[in-house]
Amino acid sequence: MDLGNLEKVLAGEPAFRLGQAKQAVFRDLIEDWQEATVLPLSLREKLSKDIPLKVVAEISVSKDKKTIKALINLKDDLKIEAVLMRHQDRNTVCLSSMVGCPLACEFCATGKIGFKRNLTIAEIINQVLLFNRYLKKENQRVNSIVFMGMGEPFLNYDNVLGAIRVLNDQDYFNIGARHISISTVGIIDGVEKLAKESLQVNLAISLHAANDSLRSEIMPINKNQSLGEVLKSVENYFKTTRRKVMFEYIMIAGINDSLKNARELTGLLAGLKSTAFMVNLISYNPTGIFKASTPKQIKDFKSVLEKSGIEVTQRYRFGQTIKAACGQLAADKT
Ligand code: SAH
Repeated sequence: MDLGNLEKVLAGEPAFRLGQAKQAVFRDLIEDWQEATVLPLSLREKLSKDIPLKVVAEISVSKDKKTIKALINLKDDLKIEAVLMRHQDRNTVCLSSMVGCPLACEFCATGKIGFKRNLTIAEIINQVLLFNRYLKKENQRVNSIVFMGMGEPFLNYDNVLGAIRVLNDQDYFNIGARHISISTVGIIDGVEKLAKESLQVNLAISLHAANDSLRSEIMPINKNQSLGEVLKSVENYFKTTRRKVMFEYIMIAGINDSLKNARELTGLLAGLKSTAFMVNLISYNPTGIFKASTPKQIKDFKSVLEKSGIEVTQRYRFGQTIKAACGQLAADKT
């Protein structure tokens, strides 16, 4: 059993015990039930047996101390990675939703290791718990989440949404929904389901190419669901939620970064009925096969988009030196 079973394990106890246990784990950030001295000894012992609190991980810290990567050991000895990024005013955690990933995108290190299994709700929230414990000594907390680690969140929809509810809940992590983002290749079923949840989480779509033949080459999932179908589901999402969508676009030298590619992207997005979107240009982080676009190429690409009135941002690079950047998570020791 794990933290997801806390209510079940405490079902026979007086109701206030659940509140005390949650307070101990999620506010006081205890790492061992023996520290929860408000609970009777016998209950602490039962909880120690049924719900282990320890998260076993190896931590690496980048030279500038802004990126902290955790290689977490799961019960079945598989490993995942999660990354804490320390911005001036925010502590963002990049979460994994799977061990490995079945999508096999050409540019992504996680795709290369294949799919092992989905993570449980507890395994997802444990990644945040670990970093809250890490930040405790500085009196800080994780206050923003991106599902951009290993795996495709919408192929583990129920557990990802279950975890988001716990992260959002005031009694647990109290992280505002607006500070939680899901990044997906655009699994249509997931986009449609998310639109119907009444949750203000952010949606990011990994686009990376503006035509079907190139997108299918670098993202095999595109052979099953075309760009047109993905964009249609995004338009429906917008109609229902009125929430702005982010399109992610990795800049890979000689593959998708020409000015012709930029004009094609402009044309594709101009076809959308809504204008509530932005494009996030991401430098390709080396994973062995491709090369990153030069800063000049990115600048020129960006100005083509901007000239046609598209809002563009560039993602700050975190953690390349410790292989903690987007697409580099492969849990080397899996
Ligand atoms: N499966 C989801 C979430 C995981 S990847 C998705 O594809 O969106 C999170 C982001 O990192 C995605 O936009 C993904 O395309 C991007 N990414 C993958 N490999 C990368 C690399 N080598 N360099 C930069 N970004 C990469």
